Amino acid sequence: MADGRAKSEAETRREVVETARAMSAGGLSPGRSGNVSARFGAGMLITPSGVAYEGLAPADIVFVGGDGAAQAHRYRPSSEWRFHLAVYGARREAGAIVHAHSRHATVLACAGRPIPAFHYMVAAAGGSDIRCAPYATFGTSELASNVVAALDGRRACLMAHHGQLAFGDSLAAALGLAREVEELAAQYCELLKIGGVGILDEDEMARVLERFKDYGA
Ligand code: 13P
Ligand code: ZN
Repeated sequence: MADGRAKSEAETRREVVETARAMSAGGLSPGRSGNVSARFGAGMLITPSGVAYEGLAPADIVFVGGDGAAQAHRYRPSSEWRFHLAVYGARREAGAIVHAHSRHATVLACAGRPIPAFHYMVAAAGGSDIRCAPYATFGTSELASNVVAALDGRRACLMAHHGQLAFGDSLAAALGLAREVEELAAQYCELLKIGGVGILDEDEMARVLERFKDYGA
């Protein structure tokens, strides 16, 4: 049991590093922006604050307990540990979170524009739109509450004047959804340029959400 737990922590640390590197290499989070976490035990394993992704090692990932206390470590946990922990607290199904300053999601977030149902794939985030959480300073409890509220019934949201976040039952699912949100944001930005955006109605989005339940199963 002790062995199993140690192994699973090592594996989780490795996966957090791989996900953070993939996010960065995929151009989803310029510079040192963004962060990645996975639920672990009563808390989470999260990327360290302000450390470049390329040189990140599994031992650099920081454990933060359910009470918000970080393990003694040479690095501090991501400055956004509060919203990561708040999402795990509010959403039992969340196993991993990816936060990114991806270009098009950030452009829309800076304009305070949620993503409406211009395309049926918006349902990938769990509902008929992708909301934009009101602005609050990075790293604050206020930002954590705004994010949790914007995620109600959803697995992703934009964050005003900041970026986006997505969660899933696994790191792969969270990263996949963050990529999808960025793609939808890019398409929506293009659409806004030509104007005349058509929006799918709630009945149609309800049908799509129903179909998504066993899509690919
Ligand atoms: P950290 O390096 O502290 O995770 O901060 C990056 C970020 O995106 C803050 O919102
Ligand atoms: Zn950020």
